[in-house]
Amino acid sequence: MIYLDAAATSATRTEVLHEMWPYLTGEFGNPSSHHHVGEHAARALAGARAQVARWLGCRTNEIVFTSGGTEADNLAIKGICLARPRGRHVVTSAIEHPAVLESCDYLRRQHGFEVTILGVDSDGMIDLDEAAKALGPDTTLCTVMLANNEIGTVQPIAELAELTRTRRVPIHTDAVQAAGTLDLRGLDVDAMSISGHKIGAPKGIGALYVRGRVPVEALIHGGGQERARRSGTENLAGAVGLAAAVSHTDPADAERLAGLRDEFIADVTAAMPEAVLTGHRERRLPGHASFCFPGTSGEAVLLHLEQDHDVICSSGSACAAGSTEPSPVLLAMGLSAEVAHTAVRFTFGPTTTADDLRSAARGVGHAVASVRNLVR
Ligand code: PLP
Repeated sequence: MIYLDAAATSATRTEVLHEMWPYLTGEFGNPSSHHHVGEHAARALAGARAQVARWLGCRTNEIVFTSGGTEADNLAIKGICLARPRGRHVVTSAIEHPAVLESCDYLRRQHGFEVTILGVDSDGMIDLDEAAKALGPDTTLCTVMLANNEIGTVQPIAELAELTRTRRVPIHTDAVQAAGTLDLRGLDVDAMSISGHKIGAPKGIGALYVRGRVPVEALIHGGGQERARRSGTENLAGAVGLAAAVSHTDPADAERLAGLRDEFIADVTAAMPEAVLTGHRERRLPGHASFCFPGTSGEAVLLHLEQDHDVICSSGSACAAGSTEPSPVLLAMGLSAEVAHTAVRFTFGPTTTADDLRSAARGVGHAVASVRNLVR
């Protein structure tokens, strides 16, 4: 199998599992317990928090462990907005993950917030001038993703953060897809979401960074864990796994993936000049290549790739899997519904090789030709 769906999820790294194992077995304590078993667990949790904080360049008390990216996004958006008494206005973009868009919509429906949705250009980039115009005295939060899961486009978040700072508006960024390959330390945002299963930790663990002075209203109430920002007995093994996974991320891998990506894009577009690369050509995630193949059906291409070439990829976001609607992200970029239906996404990670991608590119050529003949 050639697995090219790393943006959906990836296997837990063996080294990460090794580091987690003691906390699922002998060191099974509850970090809140007042005996030595609990104290060992609390120390391990503090160590994991310190490692994630070091990696993000923040303080340990600015990390809230969550069940993943979705919860981190929910906590950032609802938590920050509901904790601020002034203003009821959120600014976001048209191509956010549903975890962000649905959280904003919840605020609109249940708390009377106004939501401004920034458009994107044909590369999936927001416009900083439009963002500047959208920020007002009542704006409670600006939330724009660092990198898009479907098209790989990387937004100018450092520049947007400069803008929001001058307007005294807190900014959150969903860095779920960017974590592991892009540098998250220099962004100067107020909140940032990451997810373990995109970077070699298991599913069910993630984290939200929230700048110390930014108040957050908890969404889950109970025993007051995570400094009362997220109650519930901590997922200790998961937190240790997340810390292990971040410590295994390697900046050299991003360079390698970018090289593989460029070669793959060149191979696919040379074989099929009619293929349309979706997303920004340069400002895109290193391990991300996405296309539309006009005259086909994305789902049919996927099926051929899997059945005939053992290549696993996706037609867009796994979170919208099963949906027969064209991708809202591609529609927001100005593509027609007909072309959006032909989208296929290839995303790769640390275990992907150049040979994998050469075989996959050949497979794509055959699959697209077969589907096109069928459609004709
Ligand atoms: N945000 C983005 C950009 C994503 O791609 C995903 C998952 O694919 C999420 C949030 C949700 O993360 P999780 O699966 O950890 O809930």
